[in-house]
Amino acid sequence: MKNFEDLGLSPALAKSLVHMKYTKPTPIQARAIPLALDGHDIMGTAQTGTGKTAAFAIPLVEKLLTDPRGSALVLTPTRELGKQIMDIMQQLLGPKSSIKTAFIIGGESMGKQVNQLRARPRLIVGTPGRINDHLERGNMMLHDTHFLVLDETDRMLDMGFTVQLERIFKYMPDKRQTLMFSATLPKNILKMSEKYMHNPQRIAVGETNVVARNIQQDVIRIEQNNKYPALLEQLENRSGSVIVFVKTKHGADRMARNLRRDGVQSDALHGDLRQNKRDRVMQNFRKQTFRVLIATDIAARGLDVPHIEHVVNYDLPQVAEDFIHRMGRTARAGAEGSAISFVSDQDSRKWHAIERLLNPDAANDRGHQNKRRPQNGKKGKPSRHKSSRGNKPHNGKAQNGKSQDGKPHNGKPHNGKPQSDKPRNGKPQNNKQGNKKRFHRNKKKAA
Ligand code: ADP
Ligand code: MG
Repeated sequence: MKNFEDLGLSPALAKSLVHMKYTKPTPIQARAIPLALDGHDIMGTAQTGTGKTAAFAIPLVEKLLTDPRGSALVLTPTRELGKQIMDIMQQLLGPKSSIKTAFIIGGESMGKQVNQLRARPRLIVGTPGRINDHLERGNMMLHDTHFLVLDETDRMLDMGFTVQLERIFKYMPDKRQTLMFSATLPKNILKMSEKYMHNPQRIAVGETNVVARNIQQDVIRIEQNNKYPALLEQLENRSGSVIVFVKTKHGADRMARNLRRDGVQSDALHGDLRQNKRDRVMQNFRKQTFRVLIATDIAARGLDVPHIEHVVNYDLPQVAEDFIHRMGRTARAGAEGSAISFVSDQDSRKWHAIERLLNPDAANDRGHQNKRRPQNGKKGKPSRHKSSRGNKPHNGKAQNGKSQDGKPHNGKPHNGKPQSDKPRNGKPQNNKQGNKKRFHRNKKKAA
């Protein structure tokens, strides 16, 4: 499949795609959409920012358009991601669609949602907790819902959510089509997912559990107490929107306050805020009303804010996979992005877990590796800075910015930065330059 036209989609959907300027499918879309249209269950993985949403949303909308009795449920781990997916669904359905939808998340009025549910929606997008509330109160029926999507599958099948999911599935028909997508998929989750699918087709574009290749990564070894001044320096030296990940809700608020005091436009996003505040923060960040978003891991997964140019891991994530997802908030749809991780002595355990995830072979071989791989700066004392792209060496062939990376081809300018055609060998390099110099060098490289 080269173009969406080859799929013979309903005219209304084809028109929406033109309107959205989606002309060519990304690799995950090219592989998943035909199989999904044929009715298969799918377990799909592809790197962050490569168009997994439309890979499930296009077949879902096509089903709704062609089967007047069809209905679908999409489950997401966070409210913000749910909203983003609902927006894409609405765009695909088009402004004139008569298909009713319901958006069912926590933190919003039950009454408004009950009204949406009474109108017999054929598409429900939401988070598991609130959906269960409605199911238990008899506000929602799913016995006729034959199409199910779990976005960010590995998070959804994680311990925190499985009880909720199992309850929801009990209300659904056994005979249904299930699509699951993520950029990361630990083996135990892959195994567990089989329980919920019928003969699933496994689609893996590129490697699973890798940081998207178009992200310039830096690691700064630093003492905990020096992190804040180092952050200020980084923010001063970088331009464009930034997302800074921190560990706690309280820490997010405090940092946003401190940054504002220090003259940086910033705001915080975390799970303790009222939903209307969360909405407002996201809206303002999307509109670039402020530049630096301080977030907990609720923002790690799925959010597509194309103008984010830098990700800062101020604190490392609790779960190694989230490192990959956090990084993936930049460099969307083939754009370039950069990421920086502050690693203090207290972070060693988490950092090793991340290294093991990103480079399992090297981690198994750690004893020898320190002697063999001077280029990663791990010989003897760790270097202060390390810089690399991606997390694994790949074949070193020059990229043409097209299919290999699974990049969307929409011809849109990405942050105004042209694509680099340079080969990316993914090897970490020593980098002794100061922050400022390095940043400008990066800018130049991107230009
Ligand atoms: P993922 O879920 O893989 O992280 P998304 O589905 O959020 O990625 O898509 C990333 C970006 O790519 C979005 O801004 C989306 O609009 C854009 N995109 C997706 N598919 C296409 C396409 N076929 N053509 C152009 N842009 C696309
Ligand atoms: Mg996604």
